[in-house]
Amino acid sequence: MAAATMSIEPFTRSFTQQEPIPEAAIAAAVEVMRSGRLHRYNTIEAEVPAASALERAYADYQGARYCLACASGGTALQLALRACGLAPGERVLTNAFTLAPVPGAIVAAGGRPVLVETTEDLVIDLADLEVKAAGSGARFLLVSHMRGHLVDMDALMALAGRCGLTVIEDCAHTMGAAWRGRKSGNFGRVACFSTQTYKHMNSGEGGLLTTDDAELAARAIVLSGSYMLYERHGAAPPAEVVERIRLETPNNSGRMDNLRAAILLPQLAELDANVARWNTRYRAIEARLARVAALVLPVRPPEELYVGSSIQFRIPGIAPDDARRFVVDARALGVELKWFGAPEPVAFTSTHASWTYLERQALPRTDRVLAGLFDMRIPLTFSVDDCRHIADIIAHCAERLSLEGAA
Ligand SMILES: *Cc1c(COP(=O)(O)O)cnc(C)c1O
Repeated sequence: MAAATMSIEPFTRSFTQQEPIPEAAIAAAVEVMRSGRLHRYNTIEAEVPAASALERAYADYQGARYCLACASGGTALQLALRACGLAPGERVLTNAFTLAPVPGAIVAAGGRPVLVETTEDLVIDLADLEVKAAGSGARFLLVSHMRGHLVDMDALMALAGRCGLTVIEDCAHTMGAAWRGRKSGNFGRVACFSTQTYKHMNSGEGGLLTTDDAELAARAIVLSGSYMLYERHGAAPPAEVVERIRLETPNNSGRMDNLRAAILLPQLAELDANVARWNTRYRAIEARLARVAALVLPVRPPEELYVGSSIQFRIPGIAPDDARRFVVDARALGVELKWFGAPEPVAFTSTHASWTYLERQALPRTDRVLAGLFDMRIPLTFSVDDCRHIADIIAHCAERLSLEGAA
């Protein structure tokens, strides 16, 4: 340990520190607070509330016809599943490698998750998906673009067409990303985004749902708790579409308020510039880690425009004790790595085995991948030099590990 810390300068900045909210967003938030009209339907004559303005702006950004602002990404997922017509007890295919709100939303919406294997490049395993689609009889696939990795979307949509699957996209880590020039979220019937602090726009909590399907949008709006005030939405279908379904659709109260929407609007204007900033940082780390023999980086296909707000790498076959020591060594030098192979969930790193409310499902390929999988956040508060420094520390710890493994 002493030798390790002596030979390389520790890193001292926080991995959970995001950038401040832009001044324009702070000013907009103060204005909403001064008005007292925080509830999205609390408007005065001809006023466009921030929640509606955000829906309009995000629909335009995304290139989707309809957008609904929600209380959280998880809420958006639940509303999407319900609005698609998920029946109680129905099976829903989803990635085994995802974050807890995904299976949680399926269960909350009354569904039963059927977990699909993960490839070494961290995307849904299409061969396993095809087998499980046939075996489960599921009508829905909630595909999670976990940690920002996009599966071959052309192949996925072809498979979904063959198997009669309705696709719901979880874009919590792919806001701003694209596949062959088409925005992530515009492939399935409906897409869900998160504006929680650790995602690509920050309102503390928040979610956005987008779709081109008028009836689905209408159902999502009423489900979100529209109190029959759906005409005050910024990117909603015509009122007559909502009128057809409004009385048969329950209120699940999952709205976004004007305060959070006001904070998000100015951030949307900066999103694409921030994507470029993330990717500069990602590539600086990736280039250094690619030179470390022990580390395997996921292959990022040329069709994928990703958002490098986090980075993943694998050390295939690493023993659990070595993985723990690697994380501890990096931590001692100020670098926060998450390891997905730990038997106990740590903060955001729970895995399918921790979701004991699900039916037990054997996922040997995913388990093998997760046993050697490490993950690191890349907040924009890190400079590119910080990223190079961090990558040097990871390389140093990995090299030390293999030296000691060989000894
Ligand atoms: C963050 C996240 C969500 C949504 O989470 P909320 O905290 O409810 O906004 C959904 N899927 C994944 C993969 C996530 O990381």
